[in-house]
Amino acid sequence: MALHSHIGVLAFPFGAHAAILLTLGFDDIKVYDVWDGMPKGEAFTGSHLEAVQLFLSATPGNFEKVMKEAEVESGMKISCLLTDAFLWFACDLALERGIPWVPFWSPGSFSLSAHMYTDKIWSMMRSSGGAAETAEKTLAFVPGMSSVHISALPGEILSENLESPLALMIYKMVQKLPKSTAVVVNSFEELDPIITTDLKSKLHSFLNIGPSILSSPTQSSGDSGQECLLWLEKQRPASVVYISFGTVSIPQTTELAALAEALETGEFPFLFSLRDNAKKLLPEEFLERTSKFGMIVSWAPQLKVLENPSVGAFITHGGWNSVLESLSYGVPLICRPFFGDQNLNSAMAENVWKIGVRIEGGVFTKNRTIEALQYIMSNDTGKRIRENINNLKEKAQNAVKSDGSSTKNFKALLELLKNSRGV
Ligand code: UDP
Repeated sequence: MALHSHIGVLAFPFGAHAAILLTLGFDDIKVYDVWDGMPKGEAFTGSHLEAVQLFLSATPGNFEKVMKEAEVESGMKISCLLTDAFLWFACDLALERGIPWVPFWSPGSFSLSAHMYTDKIWSMMRSSGGAAETAEKTLAFVPGMSSVHISALPGEILSENLESPLALMIYKMVQKLPKSTAVVVNSFEELDPIITTDLKSKLHSFLNIGPSILSSPTQSSGDSGQECLLWLEKQRPASVVYISFGTVSIPQTTELAALAEALETGEFPFLFSLRDNAKKLLPEEFLERTSKFGMIVSWAPQLKVLENPSVGAFITHGGWNSVLESLSYGVPLICRPFFGDQNLNSAMAENVWKIGVRIEGGVFTKNRTIEALQYIMSNDTGKRIRENINNLKEKAQNAVKSDGSSTKNFKALLELLKNSRGV
């Protein structure tokens, strides 16, 4: 058995940093830092675009250097590259070494599909006179996405501009993915069966192994977590609106004011996860005036919150993890997307799965927010949405059971990794 003669490498970009993890087993993981491209002695300006550019200009040399160091230090050969899919150059590194490349696509499978069809989407936009002219056309030629409008696509596709480093990175990734051994996503086949079939036909292997939060829930709640969970226990079933915009996005002051006014006017019980630096953007004395029916925390144990029966709606930026978590626990969505795949995630939620609504016009106003909340929370209009999301919740939970599709795919992934190291 050659258990310790080969190692696998997991590589992911972490903000301005990158790392590779050397894996032999759960108890034997070693983390190596990979240079992020920032010249020595220079300070980070805070521009994410610049960070991506610097990082890309350092690849693949920064990864190769550390991979060699890891091989020398451990006395073992790297036998597989399991990387974030954005790190497309790992395909060439794997080919040079004659080992498998297994990219992990962290957003939903439909956004991967949209990227795979970029050339067709561009040619359609060009023949119709540009992105603005085609905005209301649907993606009729993309299997499983025929009811999604062009305007919902990520900016990297709509701009048709390969000079943006992110767009170029995604474009190159799409060229390389068909050469990968398998593409792994944190979703489940039953969510997008048509897209799954289509991507399976385009890739050597396409493995949905999620929702990971159901197969391995690990979030800890901390002290502020306990406090808000106790508060939720005292609320009526399906009465509370949970609000979070993820780890990056924050609405502008006017929008936050409109959202706050809507919550206050409608007296909707709410739990708001809002970072400390954004609390000052709320209207004066909002916290005091709403303390009888609302709570604000700087970080919420989101999984436990969504699991709590008192939560009836989730106002979200439509980040993929938030959407997947919400549907895994059956909480209808009200989406206010900001950038990246958030618009597409929100469009899938509204138009394809019919498990939520987008804020009309794309930005919070007092009246639109009240309308969306009343629509979702009402016994009448929200009924169908709740049925749909509970249906998906059941499918998500079945997917991670011992005989479920995601469990089978995960076993296939393990088999693939095991074979790559010759066990
Ligand atoms: N999250 C959380 N508590 C909060 C806010 C966010 O646990 O108060 C977690 C949430 O459960 C999700 C992640 O942060 O797993 C946000 O990821 P998502 O993809 O939705 O958005 P992003 O932060 O990438 O924009």
